[in-house]
Amino acid sequence: MSTTSVSPQALAINGGSPVRTTFLPYGRQSLDEADVQAVVEVLRSDWLTTGPKVGEFEEAFAGRVGAKHAVSFSSGTAALHAAAFAAGLKRGDEAIVPPLTFAATANCVLYLGATPIFADVSPDTLNLDPEQVAKRLSPKTRAILPVDYAGHPADLAPILEIARRDALLVIEDACHALGAEYAGKRVGSISDMTVFSFHPVKHITTGEGGMVTTNNPQLAETLRRFRNHGISSEARERQDSGQWFYEMVLLGFNYRLPDFACALGLEQLKRLDANLARRREIAERYTSAFRQIPGVIPPSVREGINPAWHLYPIRLELGRLTADRARVFRALRAENIGVNVHYIPVHLHPYYRDRFGYKGGEYPVAERAYERLLSLPMFHGMRDQDVEDVIRATEKVLTAYSG
Ligand SMILES: *Cc1c(COP(=O)(O)O)cnc(C)c1O
Repeated sequence: MSTTSVSPQALAINGGSPVRTTFLPYGRQSLDEADVQAVVEVLRSDWLTTGPKVGEFEEAFAGRVGAKHAVSFSSGTAALHAAAFAAGLKRGDEAIVPPLTFAATANCVLYLGATPIFADVSPDTLNLDPEQVAKRLSPKTRAILPVDYAGHPADLAPILEIARRDALLVIEDACHALGAEYAGKRVGSISDMTVFSFHPVKHITTGEGGMVTTNNPQLAETLRRFRNHGISSEARERQDSGQWFYEMVLLGFNYRLPDFACALGLEQLKRLDANLARRREIAERYTSAFRQIPGVIPPSVREGINPAWHLYPIRLELGRLTADRARVFRALRAENIGVNVHYIPVHLHPYYRDRFGYKGGEYPVAERAYERLLSLPMFHGMRDQDVEDVIRATEKVLTAYSG
């Protein structure tokens, strides 16, 4: 027997040839010439930072998600910080957060000196479980922060009902869910405040950037002040009215999104519907293919939900496989498929363990899911061949490890 020849079906991790020769990332931006032109135009204008494009982008964005107000920020994290501030979170308060999210969702509560209280997620969608939320309420609870994991809206109706009963605010982290729909309503128009991100892996990008939408004019005003040092009017308005006078009315930050970034956002927003359509098409192709592959559980979609598919997270049926998630991850990476894991539960990060004493085991649904999750490549710029490569590699690897 030769030790140098390997069968064509051999896994790349074992020396076989990979399903594709170039690396396919899990997410990436798409930019076209119109995007470049829009940015260049602003670079040649008088306003690099807050100028006319900021308001134009905010208005177009609010219109797209069906909200009365949209306030832009320098990142999704800055937008979360501002929303937590506008909700009135302060030292001694608590806010309820799911553990299966990006750390920024919980960190924004800490920025205000308040405490994030985790509540476990539902086993199907991996979104905040309303029954767990109800169990974690206390007289100190002031806000609930559901996350629309992977782009599937959270269970908003029961969460809003709990919030209304106790006069809490709902800050929806919709960084995954621009363009998603919940019971016929657009995400961005439902919660007290909804937060979006324009990081390059998201549905539209401004490089870095974020947005908060709300129907409440008081919250919108606080959000605008918070992003501009707590100052009660903007530099351009003052110049327009020939005024030098301004007042700082609250302790804010500089979280402004530059004019050229907003010009990029405006162009990108025009392609949101096309981006969503492509992501939905990819999800459909994946889901029908993965029903046939042993050991894979495709993401579930509840009745009345139209997800935005920021991610396509499969779960591995470890009982039917001879490899664990780490091994499957490495095998798929060797096939040049850029799988990822979303997310390490927030309470298990060293900072949270050290500060709050979490040891693991506190949130069994999120922790169990974490050990099985794999995000497959999902972005609107994927070609059909990319999609087929992912399916072929997943089938190749999981067939090899099916026991
Ligand atoms: C992307 C993201 C954020 C914020 O990200 P920024 O990189 O600061 O724009 C927050 N929460 C979730 C769930 C995210 O995916």
